[in-house]
Parts: sequence; C-alpha cells; structure tokens
Amino acid sequence: MNERLKKDLDEMASILDEVKNQGLSYLDHLQHRPTSNTHKISPDTQLPIDGWGTQNTLKYFNETFEKIMVSSSGPKYWGFVTGGTTPASIAGDWLTTIYDQNAFKASGQGDVSAHIEMETIRLLLELFNLPKNLSGGFVSGATMSNVTCLAAARQWIGKQQGKDYAKEGISGPIHVLAALPHSSVLKAMSLLGLGSVNITTIKTNHGHRESMDLQDFEKQILHLSGAPFILISSAGTVNTADFDDFEGIAQLKKKFNFWWHIDAAFGGFASCSKSHRHLVDGWEYADSFTIDCHKWLNVPYENAIFFIKESHKIFQIETFQNSNAPYLENQSGTVDYLNLLPENSRRLKALPVWFALLAYGKSGIQEMVDDSIEHAQFFGDWIEKHSHFELLAPIRLNTVCFTLNDYSDERVTKFLSILNETGKVFMSPTLYREKKGIRAAFVNWRTTSEDVSYVMELMHSLIKKRNFL
Ligand SMILES: *Cc1c(COP(=O)(O)O)cnc(C)c1O
Repeated sequence: MNERLKKDLDEMASILDEVKNQGLSYLDHLQHRPTSNTHKISPDTQLPIDGWGTQNTLKYFNETFEKIMVSSSGPKYWGFVTGGTTPASIAGDWLTTIYDQNAFKASGQGDVSAHIEMETIRLLLELFNLPKNLSGGFVSGATMSNVTCLAAARQWIGKQQGKDYAKEGISGPIHVLAALPHSSVLKAMSLLGLGSVNITTIKTNHGHRESMDLQDFEKQILHLSGAPFILISSAGTVNTADFDDFEGIAQLKKKFNFWWHIDAAFGGFASCSKSHRHLVDGWEYADSFTIDCHKWLNVPYENAIFFIKESHKIFQIETFQNSNAPYLENQSGTVDYLNLLPENSRRLKALPVWFALLAYGKSGIQEMVDDSIEHAQFFGDWIEKHSHFELLAPIRLNTVCFTLNDYSDERVTKFLSILNETGKVFMSPTLYREKKGIRAAFVNWRTTSEDVSYVMELMHSLIKKRNFL
C-alpha cells in the first residue's frame, strides 16, 4: 500500500472529525456567508508526484477554494431554484458515500440498494399522492429525468409506427408538442436525436399566463391527422410557476393517442401543500413525470426522480437495456436498474431522500413547502405595493417575477447586479414577455420571514440611493 494511503488510513478518524467540524462551521455560518463573490481566482495547482495526504490537502483546499464558496445552500439564495440540505439529507448523503454501494441491480441478490430505492419511490408516490402503478428511478437531475422519460416516449412512438427506434435509430416523424418547455427539455430533445427545434409550439393562455391554451392544443392535434405524438406539459413554469390544466389534458387523452409527460421539477411539490395541491389536480393520468429532489426537497445535488407508468416498462427496457435478456439476468425475475435508466453504475441516490422522508414525514415536508409559498406571497405583496417595483405576474406558488417600475431594461440589469454584489441575497435575471425581469424562487427550508424582511429593507435602501435613481 502506498505510504500516503497507509498514513491516511491510520488517520481516518481525525480526517473525518476535521471534515465534520469544518462542515458544521460552514452550516452554522450560512446566514452570514456571502451569496456571491467578487474574487477572481485562477487555479494552477500542479499534480504532485508524492501526494500530500488528506489533511494537508484539506488545508490547501481551505486556502484556495473554501473562502470563496458562496452560501448557495443558505436562506437568502433565491437564484434559479436552489434548494439547501436538511440534517437528515446530509446524514443520508454522507452514508451513501461511506457505504459506497453500486445501485445498479434489482433486489433479490443480497443487494440492499434496490430495496432502498424501491421503498423510497413508493414513499415518494405517497408523498405526491400519485398512483401506485408508476415505477421510478433516481437520476442526477430533472434534465436527466426529462431525458429518461422522453427516451421511453420516443420508443413508444416507434411502437405505434411498428418500429424499434432504440435498435434501429429514428426513421419516422416524432411529433412533440409543448407550450413553454424548460430549456432542459430542448437539451433532452437534442440528446435524443429528436432535434431541439422540432417542437410544435402550443399557444399559451391569455392574460398573465404561461400555461397551454387547450383549444390551440386540440387544434394542433387535429393537424396531425391521427398520428401519435408526445405532449410535454408543465407543473411550474420557470418564470411564474404556472401550471397546465391537467384535468383538461386528461380529458383530451381519452380522445387522442399521445404520450403525456409532465415536467414537475419543482412544481410537483405543490401536491404536498394543502392550499395549493389543486394545481396538480388530474396529473395522475400522465404517462411520465420529472421531479427534482435537489430543489424543493432540500437534499444535496445530484438528485431527481422520474416516474413512468408501469405498463410502459417495456419501452424503458427496450431503450435502456444493458443486456440482451434483462429479465433473465438475475434470479429474482425482476429487471435490474441498469436496464431501466441511463446510468449503469450509480451511487445510492435514494438514501438521502429516504432519510428526509422518514425524518420529517408528510407534515414536515408539507410545512416546508407551505413556508416557501408564504415567503413568496409576503415578498410578492411587498413588491406590488412598493412604488419602484412591479410584479410581472401574479404569485402562483413559490416564485416572484418582478421588475422596476418605469426603468429601462439596462436599469433593471444594473439594479440586479448591485443587489447581488452585496452578497446578502441572490436572485436571477429573467426575460418575461420581452421585459427584463428579476426572479426570486423560494425553496430553501432555512428561509424565514425575517430573511425576507431583511431583503426588502436592503432593496429599499439600494433603490433610494441617489446614484441609482
Ligand atoms: C430545474 C428544472 C429543470 C432542470 O433540472 P436540473 O435539476 O437542473 O437538471 C427542468 N425543468 C424544470 C421545470 C426545472 O425547474
């Protein structure tokens, strides 16, 4: 054994102690650590011939990178849709690393990973109030979840046309319809050979809506003269967290032949909220779902799930099979995970979720979700009343999309960069109906109404500064 490795092995306990203490110190100071940094660094570390050992490496890491880590998992990071990490999810994530299981098998061969994954999927279906006839799997993020679901949908289309696209490659037309898909859907389209520009756009509803106009949807369907197609719908659009009318789509699904996918990356959590669960009414009739766990469930990156109807499993297998006889590969007669999703070897991503679900339960997660919704409402009300700000869309769930009253787009951009440079809060730029806007998304479990009030005061004082006006 290499000398450094041997020494590290002897020092394992003190290494883990140091990491634990450093981790605690980071988490304890999340509130005060800046949300952005202005340091420029140019890493130029050379590969050492003789390693430094873990403790020296940690010291070097702290000197070079640790100082500029921003508090993206803290309570005032409202950029993108960025979740934090709860104690339970950190515990599960640490243990995932320690046990280092490869979650590629099915259960039944002494491999506990699949048991945990299947149980976690079942618990999640219960949390989201989704039917039990969905099967699922863990992937790295909603992007890969969209890829997984759309890959199965692509295979389903092939079946309707008497073809096996997974084997033969795509030869026929694959019609994909969507109103306002997330950018990752376009990436998925490009990755799957469907072409990112090959989406037939459905109109959005009038008013400040980002949801699909069902009349236009039906009109587009009729243009296809009976050809099967894929519908990508949204539970939570990025700018204004708008939801498609799932009950209406479910009605149309009775009349027409299509694969219905829902990108519910963060919006799926509306189903956990007493006051907002109606937003997903009817979603249980969809064929596939994308939901991120590293956003609103507050588990560490990389963590998302997909759900696909059990009856569509064959399309998953035909697409992702890593062997010619996936059913025969193990004695349990079930299909190994590596034949059901993109990755072969995988870490046990289910464990941090399993910990979070059991540690906080249905009511804990409901409260986490409702708190975020309340913060968005509180912040949105303030924006609406403030003479210098203006809401760009009503608050539907957990995001606030706003701009500056009577200011040019350049001013909006300038304000956001001044605000983010304070390091006290972080929000994202956006474009809403050709107007420059700012977006705040609430998903972090640590955020309190005091945090929101603090940011309001900060924004008020910045806009009052003479040099800004
Ligand atoms: C965040 C998001 C995605 C992409 O998720 P990743 O986890 O970044 O891969 C897809 N769709 C929606 C609606 C999202 O909010």
